[in-house]
Amino acid sequence: MLHMIDFRDSLTERFIRYTEFNTMSDPHLVGEKRPTTDGQRFFQKELLRELEELGLETYYSDESVVMGVLKGNTENGKRVGFLSHVDVSSDVNGNNVKAILHKAYNGGKIVLDGVSLSQESDPDLMRYIGSDIITSDGTSLLGSDDKAGIAIIMEALKYLSEHKEIEHGDIEVYFTPDEETGSGMDMFPYDRLKSYVTYTVDGEEEDVIETECFNASSVELEFRGRVCHLGEARGKMVNALKVASEVISMLPQAESPEATDGKYGYYAPFEMHGTLEKALLTILIRDFDEGSFERRIDNVRHIAESVAKLYGAELSVKTSITYHNMAKANLEKPEARLSIAESAKKLGFEIRERAIRGGTDGAKLAELKIPSPNIFTGGHNLHSLREWVSVDAMNKSVNLVLGIIDYWKDKK
Ligand SMILES: [Zn+2]
Repeated sequence: MLHMIDFRDSLTERFIRYTEFNTMSDPHLVGEKRPTTDGQRFFQKELLRELEELGLETYYSDESVVMGVLKGNTENGKRVGFLSHVDVSSDVNGNNVKAILHKAYNGGKIVLDGVSLSQESDPDLMRYIGSDIITSDGTSLLGSDDKAGIAIIMEALKYLSEHKEIEHGDIEVYFTPDEETGSGMDMFPYDRLKSYVTYTVDGEEEDVIETECFNASSVELEFRGRVCHLGEARGKMVNALKVASEVISMLPQAESPEATDGKYGYYAPFEMHGTLEKALLTILIRDFDEGSFERRIDNVRHIAESVAKLYGAELSVKTSITYHNMAKANLEKPEARLSIAESAKKLGFEIRERAIRGGTDGAKLAELKIPSPNIFTGGHNLHSLREWVSVDAMNKSVNLVLGIIDYWKDKK
């Protein structure tokens, strides 16, 4: 058995201090600037300083990814890594965060500036009556996504640096920018990554880990019509806009994001613009199953081809894969999931596994056959003014990270 260590006071202080850094990312600056906002780099420099203070070797270069290595103190032991991201979403205001600590939450309504939380709106709050939760003041998100992840990893590292008698292998940490803009892993120091498995500390609900995500692609269809004077168009004109909208109407309604949940995939018309002469239509495809993912990509192509033929339009198709389901890597190296489940058991709780209806930075590592399951942070209502985090759940996550490090200390 492992005993649960109480990090709550220093964890709370650390997390609130991190929320005060303005690290809202900007999706409009992807490809122009990395990180997309200067605040992220400022925070990363602070994290670099803290890692060095804790005795880690650090690296930071053009990739704008903070990397740290804590050298192992045993002969055996496999090298493992932990990741989280420094930016917060721009879905609502994410800067000038004023965190509020609600000590020993009494179960009542929490009234913030303009918004409120109650047991009706947030039944999960019931689980934390009597313990501490943290919200913003209501004018911004809180930033537990993913500063809770960073605080959790940092507390675990601090504990190891203060307890040199604890045996462990090499530990890598990565703090990436711009996860929320989807470009966090566009540049990454892959050549430095030596971990056998990694863990992304960027989950949500207590006790939950995520080991699966969608396969994702976007299919760009370009239709070229035939234009002539509208007064003399009979039998001659081909309107590209009509062709594109016909394709949208032929996508199965029951397989749209609006009509699906759980493990069902979908087609989503995402963007369309054009003229009589040329129309560009982007369709997003998501599916957990690799085979049916490929089939969906083919389906879109076939629908587009037959509609284009019917109208006499020209078609060009460009398919790009955004990310793959990380489940495969997790199945091929089951130790990543096993190490979490086993450590949780030793700490006295059960892990529940879930699939994310979206992507994660870990999916990029999974493509390199390095699993990176997502570990809970205890955050709720992410990307909203009503975001809150449970200090107890964050504390549990620190213990879980230490448990995982313990798991690997003697694995060759
Ligand atoms: Zn996140």
